[in-house]
Amino acid sequence: MSDCRDEGCQRWQTPAPDATWRDVPRGGVIPRGGNAAEYQTGDWRSARPIHDADLCIQCRLCWVYCPDSSILTNEEGEVIGIDYDHCKGCGICAAECPKEGAMTMIAEEF
Ligand code: SF4
Ligand code: SF4
Repeated sequence: MSDCRDEGCQRWQTPAPDATWRDVPRGGVIPRGGNAAEYQTGDWRSARPIHDADLCIQCRLCWVYCPDSSILTNEEGEVIGIDYDHCKGCGICAAECPKEGAMTMIAEEF
C-alpha cells in the first residue's frame, strides 16, 4: 500500500483557493455515533483507583466527579467499585474523596 503523502496521491492534495465545496474530496462517513462503552478505553491507564468499601461514607462525590462514568454503583446508588475497562486513572475520584483511604490511587502494573 502506498504512502498517501506520495507525489500524485489525490487524497492529500490541497484544494485550489478558488475551489468550491464540490471540489473537495468526500471525507469519511461515520454511519453511527461512536460510543466508548464498546471499547476498553482504560487499557492505557498508568494508575488505578482502589475503593475501600469499609472506609467509604457513600457521599458519592467520586461518582459525581468521574469524567468517564467509571464509578460503579448498585441499585441503591451506593458506590461498589470501579469500571476498570473504562477508568483512565485520572485520579479525580481520589482527589475529591473526603474520606481518607476510601479511594486511593496506586501505580498500574503491566
Ligand atoms: S481515576 Fe478518573 S476515570 Fe478512573 S474512576 Fe477515578 S475519576 Fe473516574
Ligand atoms: S468520594 Fe470517597 S467516600 Fe465518597 S463515595 Fe466515593 S469513595 Fe466513598
